[in-house]
Amino acid sequence: MPSFQNSFQSKLPEIPTSIFAIMSGLATKENALNLSQGFPDFKSDAKLIELVNKAMINGYNQYAPMPGIFSLREAIAEKFDKLYQTTYNPDTEITITAGGTQAIFTAITATIKKEDEVIIFKPAYDCYEPTVELVGGKPISVQLDPESFKINWEEVKSLITSKTRMIIINSPHNPSGKVLSKNDMQQLENLLKNTNILLISDEVYEHIIFDNQLHESACLYPNLKERTFIIASFGKTFHNTGWKMGYCAAPAHLTAEFRKVHQFNVFCANHPIQIALATYLKNEQHYLNLGTFYQQKRDFFLNLMKDSRFEFTPSSGTYFQLLNYKNITDESDINFAKKLTIENKIATIPISVFNEQNLDTKVLRVCFAKSEETLQKAAEILCKI
Ligand code: GLN
Repeated sequence: MPSFQNSFQSKLPEIPTSIFAIMSGLATKENALNLSQGFPDFKSDAKLIELVNKAMINGYNQYAPMPGIFSLREAIAEKFDKLYQTTYNPDTEITITAGGTQAIFTAITATIKKEDEVIIFKPAYDCYEPTVELVGGKPISVQLDPESFKINWEEVKSLITSKTRMIIINSPHNPSGKVLSKNDMQQLENLLKNTNILLISDEVYEHIIFDNQLHESACLYPNLKERTFIIASFGKTFHNTGWKMGYCAAPAHLTAEFRKVHQFNVFCANHPIQIALATYLKNEQHYLNLGTFYQQKRDFFLNLMKDSRFEFTPSSGTYFQLLNYKNITDESDINFAKKLTIENKIATIPISVFNEQNLDTKVLRVCFAKSEETLQKAAEILCKI
């Protein structure tokens, strides 16, 4: 008889610890500047912190209603109406979650059955594929061109079978910083029309979009909206990723399924923060300037980087910038990222971990959601390499 430990079979034998945990852990251990995991190094608005404090003092410290407090769901519905002229019923179509990742996990778990195929574009945020595998689904990966990151919709069409149950899109895209165009969305809409394929549209960076481009939310396209779980994040928008707050908007019949899992996954998200956000979200100035705010940071950083040996195309959205180091070394991106952290005291993310078969294109991702002081220090280090 094998020992108990030896007879145990992992459900996810191939899945390593998330690169975000690895690189942030290494950055802390090595006391390195942390531009790896995506989070701001500056404070969120004192007004918002005060609203959370007030909610706690006022006693909102027990469970919130399972789908989230109604006033916050209502404020979100108003935002959809204002920004995208579309209606979501706050009662039946919006659920407050413990961040974007939980919302993605819940949407996949609630809908994907054994053998269902889910089309995922690589490089992909690292939670999509393991979640599909965990529920017995089959991730169908499409590697995007490592420079343009453009989706070839003809190729996608050729991958659709009777087993295709879901496609996951992400715009603005982590890690490439590319955004999907109106044309992309129309092609996707045509492709999915008259199918029973669901869509997860990961829009957590919806407000971080640059150079006067518009965010093409899936909710703007009726043939997409009817089949889509829109995933959003307050952490990215209000500079507090550690609060783990987000939401999912989806048609009522999909939301009903989503909530069946949500109630046993977290039951509800943080109550006092929901109370605070319900008030804070009403003022659109709190999110509409985010693109300008981060574009300044991108430009400040890239201006300092222009004489470095790294090559880059300015990011179109998100707070990430890709840097190609092929002129510096042919080391693997994982080794290079670790070396930079240990020897040069700057942590980044090697993007091969998000690629199909860990394709290594000699590219690192840096997060520029940082103070000018941090960005200056980072550029000084990177320009010496
Ligand atoms: N979304 C963040 C990033 O891409 C990290 C989230 C996480 O650590 N799981 O860096």
